[in-house]
Amino acid sequence: MPLVVQKYGGTSVASLDRIRSVAKQVVARHKEGNQVVVVVSAMAGETNRLIDLALSASSKPDMREYDALVATGEQVTSALLALILRSMGVEARSFLGHQVRIVTNNASSKARILRIEADRLRKILNRGWIAVVAGFQGVDEEGNITTLGRGGSDTTAVALASALRADRCEIFTDVEGVYTTDPGICPNARKLSKISYDEMLEMASLGAKVLQTRSVEFAKRYQIPVEVKSSLVNRPGTLVTVEDPSMENILVSGVTYDRNEAKVTILKVPDRPGVAAKIFAPLMDANISVDMIIQNVSTKGYTDLTFTVAKSDLSLALEIIQRLASQIGAKDVIADKGIAKVSIIGLGMRSHAGVASKMFQSLARAGINIQMISTSEIKISCVIDEKYTELAVRVLHDAFELGNLPRPRSKTGKKKSR
Ligand code: ASP
Ligand code: MG
Repeated sequence: MPLVVQKYGGTSVASLDRIRSVAKQVVARHKEGNQVVVVVSAMAGETNRLIDLALSASSKPDMREYDALVATGEQVTSALLALILRSMGVEARSFLGHQVRIVTNNASSKARILRIEADRLRKILNRGWIAVVAGFQGVDEEGNITTLGRGGSDTTAVALASALRADRCEIFTDVEGVYTTDPGICPNARKLSKISYDEMLEMASLGAKVLQTRSVEFAKRYQIPVEVKSSLVNRPGTLVTVEDPSMENILVSGVTYDRNEAKVTILKVPDRPGVAAKIFAPLMDANISVDMIIQNVSTKGYTDLTFTVAKSDLSLALEIIQRLASQIGAKDVIADKGIAKVSIIGLGMRSHAGVASKMFQSLARAGINIQMISTSEIKISCVIDEKYTELAVRVLHDAFELGNLPRPRSKTGKKKSR
């Protein structure tokens, strides 16, 4: 019997009425002859409320207790959905992370899943019952409750799909799929019918909020087809899947932006072997992930080093770096929160030249200065002044002709030169 893992996001379970319609959809999928595991998020806004509560109780909350608190949102929705299913006469049971058991490391608030012991779920499924799992949470080896980072229910769903060797994972959300960019910024953004794991991975990590990055890593590693779709309208969504040859014909698939990073510059760092290691090792030890790094050409034995971290990690990063700066003999440390990162992503970049220059020219024409650049095989990111984020996204979406509206083609059929 096919096994389907469904995940419903916060807006899909925002009220009892919404949970009732989720229950109907779940039952329908079950009646079609599938084994069904349902992963739920907390009710819309609930996780934010819990985080605010934690921060009001303590300005520097102990992260073990923080996780114990913020994980409760999903306990409510998983139990409610199971209650409603059972009141409909359907056998269903709810499970928290530690009941499944979803074992994570001990990195509170951004724990990573180490393994899933899914025997208990399998038993439930083999009885023909529906398993409802609280998303976003796990348990570490010592039995502490952990959470998987914002948007972590996606990861719960895909990780369960891989542990249970599910045939499909369906992520129900408040948008109809993965778009070429944020439709809130470009109303003509287009829904993609499918996208490769690698592109989705870049999109998610570069700011598209539709799937948590870790969930795409799982999907890719275990080749789980993931469909992102709306829980409100019954239309096909976007299938995240293995690459096929036609995908390379598309130069750029999407434009993303991220306002959640901050830039740190260390001025006049003595340029000698081991300095970078000295700077970045303590950040890693503190679980701070560093994104872009730029080191300038050194002059007279000194260099400037600039990198970006999540805004939420900035104060801790600064604390660490300021302490280090004096140790290594650097002159000063400056931080800038007013930045944004805009990125273009596309498999076609591997085989087509000129994408980078087109991006830089488009930004230049709009008068937007580029502060940092980083590239990979299938993406180019630029850090810019935060106040130009929306303009940059629009300019790039247009430049790569990603919009919905049919564009007038020249009658001669000649391609514009790039
Ligand atoms: N409730 C958590 C959050 O808001 C996890 C999730 O919804 O995926 O981040
Ligand atoms: Mg989400």
